[in-house]
Amino acid sequence: TNDSRLFAFQFYSDLDRLKLMREKDMENRMQDALNAGEFVVYLQPKLSLKDDTISGAEALVRWQDPERGLIPPDEFIPFFEKNRFIVEVDLYVFDQVCSLLRRWLDEGITPVPISVNMSRAHLAKTDFLDAYEAIRKAYGVPPELLEIELTETLVFTNPEALFQVIDQIHRRGYRCSMDDFGSGYSSLNLLKDLRMDTLKLDRAFFTSQNADNPRERDVVTSVIDLAEKLSMSTVAEGVETPAQTAFLKEARCDMVQGYVFSRPVPIPDFEALAFGAADS
Ligand code: C2E
Ligand code: CA
Ligand code: CA
Ligand code: CA
Repeated sequence: TNDSRLFAFQFYSDLDRLKLMREKDMENRMQDALNAGEFVVYLQPKLSLKDDTISGAEALVRWQDPERGLIPPDEFIPFFEKNRFIVEVDLYVFDQVCSLLRRWLDEGITPVPISVNMSRAHLAKTDFLDAYEAIRKAYGVPPELLEIELTETLVFTNPEALFQVIDQIHRRGYRCSMDDFGSGYSSLNLLKDLRMDTLKLDRAFFTSQNADNPRERDVVTSVIDLAEKLSMSTVAEGVETPAQTAFLKEARCDMVQGYVFSRPVPIPDFEALAFGAADS
């Protein structure tokens, strides 16, 4: 009826107003928050299925707001992508990661490589990698310990630009991974042209609860085989059950990243998990 449509309209417009207010508020506070160290890097381990050891980590940012508590990235990153503040947040995360790798090296700990997410907003500048390089060099961290995660959505806006981005990343010695593969309009055809080192299988691949949906298993196995043929390593994301892990091992997936092993955790907790020593 007209009444319910009117109601729906008001409902959404209230939500929109609320969203605008939140965004205005974030806009006002974001720079101070960055300066005050309110953005915090969490690490989620990547478990190697060959030997069940932690062989890497992904850096994931949170906003530790003194008043509102821990804000998850889904609540601020989409907005920061719009206003491009994400560029500064990504560089801050990268700085924190380089600083951590430096400390591990100084303490004689054998570091694991860490991946960072790079928003497409960076690509507006052709020399965007210079900012990353300046940070890496300041800490003297070998580039092989750093991996840059790019999402496949980039491809649809400008595939040619993406080839160049990957090439630049490689020329600096960083590794490069395709994030969220299979979440959207993934094309297998893409894989032949994109020289990624790692393929991250989105958790959309693992929708069935019991992990024994035969069609799902066939698709996952085929993608892993294809990645192998193209010399890409594979990371399954969002793995939540031991049954999924067992299947992925059978399918010869290289690594799993998911709640089944660990959520993203603060750095000292990660160190306890990975190196067996809670450090301060
Ligand atoms: P993403 O890059 O795909 O990161 C993986 C997300 O999956 C993380 O969410 C992680 O906590 C979640 N996850 C991991 N294992 C599981 C699981 O077993 N089950 C489920 N349901 N989820 C799992 P998070 O940390 O909330 O981050 C969300 C997104 O925000 C990230 O998705 C990434 O796109 C973005 N993001 C996070 N940190 C950064 C950053 O520093 N820079 C940029 N540009 N984006 C970031
Ligand atoms: Ca990612
Ligand atoms: Ca992902
Ligand atoms: Ca492999």
